[in-house]
Amino acid sequence: MPVKLPLKVYRYLPAGLVLGLGLGLTFAATVWVGRWERLTRQSEFQTQTDNLTTSLQRTINRYNDLILSLSDFYRATDNQVDGVAFSQFVRRALGSYPGIQALEWAPQVSAIARSDYERWLRSTTRGGRDTITERTSAGTLIPAGVRPSYVPVTFLEPWQDNELALGYDLASDLTRRIALERARDTGAIAATGRIKLVQETTEDQYSFLVFAPVYNRPATTLVGRRQQLEGYVLGVFRVADVVEESLQDLIYDVDFYIYDQTAPTSEQFLGFYDAQTQRVTTETEPIAPSHPNPLCQREQECDRRISLGQREWRLVFTPTTQTPLWGTLATLLIGLLVTISLLIYLSRWQSEIRRTRELSNLKLRLFSMASHELRTPLSVIWVSAQSWAANQTQLTPAQQYSTIERIQLAAKRMGQLVNDMLTLSRAEAGKLEFAPEIVELEGFCRQIFDQVDRQPNQTLDLHLEPALTKAYLDKNLLHSILVNLLSNAVKYSPEDAPVQLVVAGDDQSLRFRVIDQGIGIPAEAQNQIFEAFYRGENVGSVPGTGLGLAVVKTCVELHGGLLKVESSAKGTCITVILPWVE
Ligand code: ADP
Repeated sequence: MPVKLPLKVYRYLPAGLVLGLGLGLTFAATVWVGRWERLTRQSEFQTQTDNLTTSLQRTINRYNDLILSLSDFYRATDNQVDGVAFSQFVRRALGSYPGIQALEWAPQVSAIARSDYERWLRSTTRGGRDTITERTSAGTLIPAGVRPSYVPVTFLEPWQDNELALGYDLASDLTRRIALERARDTGAIAATGRIKLVQETTEDQYSFLVFAPVYNRPATTLVGRRQQLEGYVLGVFRVADVVEESLQDLIYDVDFYIYDQTAPTSEQFLGFYDAQTQRVTTETEPIAPSHPNPLCQREQECDRRISLGQREWRLVFTPTTQTPLWGTLATLLIGLLVTISLLIYLSRWQSEIRRTRELSNLKLRLFSMASHELRTPLSVIWVSAQSWAANQTQLTPAQQYSTIERIQLAAKRMGQLVNDMLTLSRAEAGKLEFAPEIVELEGFCRQIFDQVDRQPNQTLDLHLEPALTKAYLDKNLLHSILVNLLSNAVKYSPEDAPVQLVVAGDDQSLRFRVIDQGIGIPAEAQNQIFEAFYRGENVGSVPGTGLGLAVVKTCVELHGGLLKVESSAKGTCITVILPWVE
């Protein structure tokens, strides 16, 4: 059995569908654009981190190559490199690589050879150190203690800002010694963990050294390498200089933390690269490695590794700013706007359709009313006139009077109909005027009573507040209002039921109440009775056009007043409230 939906459901169904569909599509599009935007940002972020990592790795590789080429220079000259040759060889490289703090040569000096070495140290034109040095835990340079061997810095370029390092025993410090031994034993370049340079006095920066071993003779075994070691060529780097130099041409909104993974945990943090200033600082607190970053689906995607002299550095990237997902927001807004626009358009379209339907209903009612309400009195007039003409001589005076009365009544009904239609159409065209004047109330009401056709035993009673003698009102409008209300009260009441007109007033308004004991207006019809051509279903054979109350409403509105309907099966009371006219 087909399910019957209530009328209201059909009325709101299209709007509900548009709303549901609009919101659904908006939601889907927002989710889709959001995902697409996030993926795009993720891939952009990944590309940027890749570029940064590659650039940094490339710079470090270049530095490694430079140190290797310096060690090749030693090998090619059978390690016969003096201070002048060393300076000349490295000068060009230092000019091209601003990230290098210094390039140095540090031979291995045995305890026996120490005094000869220190004699040379004193005699050298640069510096004039007395002895091989080492550093106390407080950072002061003191003569090196007695050890089987030393690795003192001997040649260094540039001299300026690095002079303190001359004669410093690199093997005296544990971090440096570990890297020295690894380079010596593997025959490959080896980097230190983070260190503070001997010559670093002002800035709080981390540095690192990269050593390449130089042997007397080619050595392939561990023992051979240890025996044949001549010394080390080394590069001195500040982490900040290396990173800043290699990234100076890359402008991305990505910061990163640099860690030395090969070092013990407490010594891993090397610095923080701030994309905005393009500087590396060591002040920023290192983040926990599991720092959440929305642009990396997995934690490792924010991590990149680079290798450097048998060590591994870890870069942890993080975007500088979290800009909102503008595309997603725009999609949401556009979707909502489109949905709302569609709803507005739909509701306008629906009300347009409703108006058209109402108009066509109105037309139908007009035709059916006109055909009935005009034809009935017309045929009364026609038949009465014909019978008058045919029986003119036989009609008694009483019969003649009744025929004339019938014709008059029919003409009056037609006249009333035409008047009502005229009033409405003039009001519609804005031609109905409001022209107040002083009205003597009692006389005016009694005159109206005379114009209302009451039933044989019906009385019309007027209750007027004694103080209310005159009022400033539009006579024509009030006339239409009261005639229509009283005619209805009479029409829809039994023959002997009285009708009352109660006129009362207060500071603000004047009230006319028309009270009858008639058939009443069904509750569901009370909203519609003021529409043109509407007639209640309970009117039975009582004649009417459905225009009277439409005229009343128009006139009351023109007067700036209000209407109130109270009705039950025992009778009706319609109140007209008119504000005092200034
Ligand atoms: P009509 O020519 O039908 O009286 P109106 O516009 O004057 O047209 O009234 C509209 C409808 O309101 C009537 O058809 C009737 O159903 C209802 N109505 C108006 N006044 C009364 C009343 N006093 N008692 C009962 N019904 C009334």
